[in-house]
Amino acid sequence: MKALAEVLGKWEAVIGLEIHTELTTLETKMFCGCRISRDDPPNTNVCPVCLGMPGALPVPNRKAIESIVMAGIATNCEIMRRSMFYRKHYFYPDMAKNFQTTQGPVAFAMHGHLDLEVDGQGAGERPVWEDVAGDGQKPIVRADDGSYVVPIRIQRIHMEEDAAKMVHVGGSEGRIGGARESLLDYNRCGAPLIELVTEPDLRTPEEARLFMEQLRKVFCTLGISDCSLERGSMRCDGNVSLRRRGAAGLGTKTELKNLNSLRSLHDALAYEICRQAEVLEAGDSVRQETRHWEPSRRRTVVMRVKEVSDDYRFFPDPDLAPFDLSDEFVERCRARVPELPDAKRDRYMAVWGLRRREAVRLAADPDIASFFEGTAKLVEAAVVPTLANVMVNLVAGCKDLTRPQVAAVARLLADDAITFAQAREVLEMVDGTDADPEAIVDERGLRQATDVRALGAIVDEVLARCEDQVRQYHGGNRKVVGFLVGQCMRASGGSGNPKLFNQLLVQRLEE
Ligand code: ADP
Ligand code: ZN
Ligand code: MG
Repeated sequence: MKALAEVLGKWEAVIGLEIHTELTTLETKMFCGCRISRDDPPNTNVCPVCLGMPGALPVPNRKAIESIVMAGIATNCEIMRRSMFYRKHYFYPDMAKNFQTTQGPVAFAMHGHLDLEVDGQGAGERPVWEDVAGDGQKPIVRADDGSYVVPIRIQRIHMEEDAAKMVHVGGSEGRIGGARESLLDYNRCGAPLIELVTEPDLRTPEEARLFMEQLRKVFCTLGISDCSLERGSMRCDGNVSLRRRGAAGLGTKTELKNLNSLRSLHDALAYEICRQAEVLEAGDSVRQETRHWEPSRRRTVVMRVKEVSDDYRFFPDPDLAPFDLSDEFVERCRARVPELPDAKRDRYMAVWGLRRREAVRLAADPDIASFFEGTAKLVEAAVVPTLANVMVNLVAGCKDLTRPQVAAVARLLADDAITFAQAREVLEMVDGTDADPEAIVDERGLRQATDVRALGAIVDEVLARCEDQVRQYHGGNRKVVGFLVGQCMRASGGSGNPKLFNQLLVQRLEE
């Protein structure tokens, strides 16, 4: 098969995502009072409603509706004041009622968008000739480094309920084919799910990956789910088709399943784009089908072919009255939407002058952001960029640091009292203890490095005149560092610390 870059030079990939999110932070199910829990023994959180007993009546979960309205507000959707629950019928034991309660043509949230920022190498996946946004109207503006921002339209976010978990025993890889028996756990049945559907505005696997990542950050910040792709509390299906460069209209799509990591999402789409190109270039046509991503074999295989559209006998659920949202309800939800990652990132850059990359990382996760902001209060404003650097590059690997400990290390580093490598050591030493980094630095005599600036000047001078060795280093010969340390020692009249020279040299050489 051809490489993605070559295929995308000729074909336009059109991608739309359908993303299911379990509202894991709620206590009870969508239409009954059963507890939501991953850990309880099978079939212990069930009742006549979620087991579909005749005559049992559903009652919508107000908190679940608050969550979906918050999700809609955070993704720039219009909140629909009146919508209805529908029944989507199918026969399969994972839904005891024989229908799933979902929403009809009008969902709680519709017509939104997220501004997707694409930078780094991934920006190169989108060929320059495709520089228009999804609706074909607005041009995309690229920065000098090729990065761009593209609005991705969101069709809708609707509310639905989860199905029971099925475990197939005796077959291979837990699949139903060849299985001896199938076990059912109804604990998950009826748990609230929200499904977000994008317009087919994404054009590269990288954009799809970033969209998922960005949505995950937003939902995490809202606190409506634990947003785990690995555990499946956020699940994504990828729809993809190709069309000739410049062509209007949409090609036949395939739908990809089992994309349970950001990596799988990217790689499965990349594979599928190349596969479809091969089919089309051989003069065949793409079949509309659902395909399963096999991460170990890095390919997609057919799951089922869609020849006719399924007839779900879709109709408004007579047990659930049309749902009216009041202005007060919507405004209360709006007030509960916290500062979102993009706004947070911009604030960090404006208030503390953080670099964009670090601001993005810190703003992405609400726990990290709140740790960072709490620690920033403990240091002077001028130290905050160093603190950000410490948080992004050093703290990540630590388990249990306190804010004062991290603040102290940032201060020491900002004062050049220790080197970056020593900051790492100190953090590792105090991790999980209540030790004071200042005291450790003094005890171990690490402060000898107060001279980092003076030593740094020597290092710069040595590197400037040893061009040969620098070239050798970059050519892969790491041993030349020993020679360079010797040069530094000589230049300092023997007074410098060789270990420190070594660290500074490597740091400069790797910059
Ligand atoms: P289906 O009826 O198969 O469920 P929908 O029209 O509901 O398809 O769309 C499902 C998802 O697929 C949406 O995210 C949409 O943007 C995307 N999509 C629809 N048509 C195409 C296409 N031809 N190519 C790529 N994506 C598409
Ligand atoms: Zn129940
Ligand atoms: Mg659909």
